[in-house]
Amino acid sequence: MSAALQGSVGLNGNNARADTIAVQSLLTRAGMRLGLIDGRCGPKTISAIVNYQRNLMRNPDGLVEPNATTWRHLTGQGSAARSAAPGGVRPATPTRNVTPVRTPPRVAANGNGGGGAPAIIGRATPPAAAAPTPGNSSTSYTTLVPRPDRSTLNRGLTSPANRVLLAKFGAPRENYSQNDQPITNAKLAAMMSTESVGPFRVTGLRPAVASLREVLSDVQRSIPDLYNSLSSAGMKVVRNVRGSSTSISNHSWGTAIDLKINGKLDVRGDNKVYHGLVLLAPFFNARGWYWGAGFRTEDAMHFECGAALIASFPNP
Ligand SMILES: [Zn+2]
Repeated sequence: MSAALQGSVGLNGNNARADTIAVQSLLTRAGMRLGLIDGRCGPKTISAIVNYQRNLMRNPDGLVEPNATTWRHLTGQGSAARSAAPGGVRPATPTRNVTPVRTPPRVAANGNGGGGAPAIIGRATPPAAAAPTPGNSSTSYTTLVPRPDRSTLNRGLTSPANRVLLAKFGAPRENYSQNDQPITNAKLAAMMSTESVGPFRVTGLRPAVASLREVLSDVQRSIPDLYNSLSSAGMKVVRNVRGSSTSISNHSWGTAIDLKINGKLDVRGDNKVYHGLVLLAPFFNARGWYWGAGFRTEDAMHFECGAALIASFPNP
């Protein structure tokens, strides 16, 4: 069996390889399906954690922390063992491997405070750990949690600047307002498509719509009730960024989507985000989509094709 967990594993966790392998092995032993035990904490591992946590807590956070509830259950030190514990009714357990149950060493992985410190501290900040208020499972996806630390979001992904999209596809039209207007660029207009992506229909750039369908299909397999709660608040919307007269919204090229959960829209800019959006982000990130919670002005309902994904699309 594995030794004690050194750092957190899961959504925005430290995800050290050895810890991730330990968690993946234990999840598999517990009957959760997650594919390969490869030491990489991707969306399959995160959703396996979420599914495992459904039996333990009302609002799964997708994160296994050292000595916290999920880890204790995975290692057979669950509630039963705990309640029996006072007299030390765990004699069989030998133990230098069992660390006492106390404050998780979140930042402790940071041995030498120097150079690498900021990244580690940033990563260590748990997103949903600020316990969401209890609710039944149908409402918990719209429970508000603090926006995760921006440095932990969208790793390796870039939101494409206007000039990137202009160079690739040209301008959607000559001028923009705060309201949706038609695309006048004929070549770009020819790349738009209206299709079902699973839980809803959208109009957007054809390859972006295809990619979105794949993301949602991943979500459907892993967290079906979250998938069923989703609807669109718009993909192709040709206008300026809200409140700006110079910045064109990436929705104008049909490469971004705003999502509702249970028909509700997360409020932009309040630095609080729906729990369900936090769970969705790794699925989007895994297929090259950037989550709008990473913008300076938090826009958690918003997901858009990252720069590398855009580059992989055909030119008009
Ligand atoms: Zn948006």
